[in-house]
Amino acid sequence: MSEREASGAGALDGARYEIVVGLEVHCELRTRTKLFCGCPNSFGDEPNTNICPVCLGLPGSLPVLNRQAVEYAMRIGEALHCQVRPSIFHRKNYFYPDMPKDYQVSQYDEPINVEGWLELPAGKRIGITRAHMEEDTGKSTHMGGAGRIGDATHSLVDYNRAGVPLVEIVSEPDIRSADEARAYVSELRAILVATGASDGKMEEGSLRVDANVSVRPAHSATFGTRCEIKNMNSLRSLGRAIDYEAARQVDVLQAGGRVVQETRHWNEDEGRTSSMRSKEEAYDYRYFPEPDLVPLVPDEAWRESARCALPPMPGERRRALAEAAGTDPASVALLVELDLDGLVVEAVAAGADARIALNRAANEVAADLEGARRLSPASFAKVVSMEAAAKLTATQAKQVLAALLAGESDDPEAIAARRGFEAMDTTALEIVIDEVIAANPEPWERFKGGDPKVAGLFVGQVMKRTKGKADGKAVTSILRERAGGG
Ligand code: ADP
Ligand code: MG
Ligand code: ZN
Repeated sequence: MSEREASGAGALDGARYEIVVGLEVHCELRTRTKLFCGCPNSFGDEPNTNICPVCLGLPGSLPVLNRQAVEYAMRIGEALHCQVRPSIFHRKNYFYPDMPKDYQVSQYDEPINVEGWLELPAGKRIGITRAHMEEDTGKSTHMGGAGRIGDATHSLVDYNRAGVPLVEIVSEPDIRSADEARAYVSELRAILVATGASDGKMEEGSLRVDANVSVRPAHSATFGTRCEIKNMNSLRSLGRAIDYEAARQVDVLQAGGRVVQETRHWNEDEGRTSSMRSKEEAYDYRYFPEPDLVPLVPDEAWRESARCALPPMPGERRRALAEAAGTDPASVALLVELDLDGLVVEAVAAGADARIALNRAANEVAADLEGARRLSPASFAKVVSMEAAAKLTATQAKQVLAALLAGESDDPEAIAARRGFEAMDTTALEIVIDEVIAANPEPWERFKGGDPKVAGLFVGQVMKRTKGKADGKAVTSILRERAGGG
């Protein structure tokens, strides 16, 4: 099998092949305690301090299901438009040192959430097969080598993470490119954070993504054989890993080989995937129902309250903002992501000009998210309205906004007055423009004759006489009016 050069190549031999991706996302729930015991669920503590007989699987200990974890799982299911149903926990039996019980408690054939979907900002829907509950494993660190088990002298195990509640969200193989995979994870992360279930931190491992990748000839109706890629810990590595893996599979097919179904490890430094274990030697997990737990059957009232606990999801917020501002949902995705949509929606509701509000929010406000927290929708609406009414030029409006963001005051009018940005009304502006025209008869003839080079001279003169208070656009339009009429 030919291993590809570490180029991160994304070109799939022109358009002859198509990428097919299905993602499995593990989401650690933000509960105070673990899934089946009272140990703290917290990241970064001294190793092996948050442990007890239950999460260590000591003989005689019994699990008690965490109610808050179920609540979060149901919220995730609702947010992903799943059927939320009665479910059963199974034991998934396998031996690995970071799993002290020798089995992982997970939902198998009767998961709590099935058959949902997620809509990408661009509008495409990705099917959600299931979103089930399970417990996390501990964490091994391989010492004395490059961090892989192969060249390690010994390994350390931290059981603090063992038993932390997870929801695993499995997508349908509906994703068709690395970009789409990144968009899916970023949308899913935003949804998980909005439900309150997750802190969304990929870098701390609270969101972990495995990618199933296959390729097939364009227009083929059947899927190719897939490989499962592990160990991507950012959206960037996810994209790189998918592109690398797809290109590798195309190479295999074009060399007349066939793709072997296996689990592959993404190496961030080398920019390539390598075989971890093949499906042929896959474990038989001997799933059986966890005898120490009863079936989980949330009643309708509880499900209803989980539904009601949900704030508007990012997709709804994009639609609401787009509707308020008279634009399309895809174009306002960034504002929602930055949590600035409320500002614009309220400003527009208060009568501010939608186009200016969108612009100022996406540029000046987005550039100072710290300051944005103290910016009230009312003062934002005010400064936008002052600009729309030409009481402030664009440049002045930006300065007033900067002062609002810096916390100088929350009164745009006071800020404008302090800087001498008093209203330059149209009559006053027209008088100045006529003076400038009178003082420059020869250039004025050229301007009227359509010479674009002299326009700058007139605008410059007007700016000089008004000490920059004139609105450039208004000056140009009055000049054109005068030239047309004269
Ligand atoms: P397993 O039980 O081996 O984990 P699943 O059928 O549950 O397999 O699928 C796991 C993931 O693989 C899902 O996200 C699914 O969408 C994805 N998947 C299945 N077939 C393909 C394929 N041919 N190409 C890419 N992804 C696939
Ligand atoms: Mg799987
Ligand atoms: Zn415990």
